[in-house]
Amino acid sequence: MSQVHQLYKLQQIDSEIQEKKKRLGEVLQLQKGNPVLIKARSVLDTAVANHQKWQTDQKDKNLELASLNDKRQKSEKRLYSGNVTNPKELSDLQGEIESLGRRVESLEEELLEVMLYLEEAEEEKKSAQTEVETLEASWADETVDLKQEQNELALRLHHLMQSRKAHLPTVHADALKQYTNIGAKKGGVAVSKVRVNKCLSCQITNSDQVVKNAKSGKIVNCAGCGRIIYVV
Ligand SMILES: [Zn+2]
Repeated sequence: MSQVHQLYKLQQIDSEIQEKKKRLGEVLQLQKGNPVLIKARSVLDTAVANHQKWQTDQKDKNLELASLNDKRQKSEKRLYSGNVTNPKELSDLQGEIESLGRRVESLEEELLEVMLYLEEAEEEKKSAQTEVETLEASWADETVDLKQEQNELALRLHHLMQSRKAHLPTVHADALKQYTNIGAKKGGVAVSKVRVNKCLSCQITNSDQVVKNAKSGKIVNCAGCGRIIYVV
């Protein structure tokens, strides 16, 4: 088998090693976290905080309402006790009771509104919770799949490294040197297929003479990209 053919076989092994290593990197990265789940958790945090805010608001308003009603009751009790006889004081007391009544009324309206917001916040919280639970469940499944893919990739890489080691002695030192130098400059692809004179890497058409030399087993470089030509 010609050196070009051996280099082509080496290239096939190396390309697959490169590809599997890239995917392994992605698989490891993917296992670090799921951006969709992270986003859903942040939406849930916001919904919980919003719900809590309306709950606190409702509680505060209820306390205020109780205090206003208490005040009003006390004033009414005093007004009807018969102990207050001064007309000015009586009219002040009546004014105060009316004013308290108006405040109670408007506070009750506000409370109704708060209850609506609270209900809405409750719904949002529930749906955010469901979303997070669903995503967490599918993320758990996905993690299992990723772990399995990681193991398969590691195993395949191990075999490829062994194949490479077994194949290397068939490549001459000077050919390997050329292969390594070109590969370093050309993204790890030192050997390119050429079909009907056309380089499949750079699409340049090489001369018949170049292709003839390559076919005879010589190491010839593509006129366009400089890669070693392997005629299909
Ligand atoms: Zn080329």
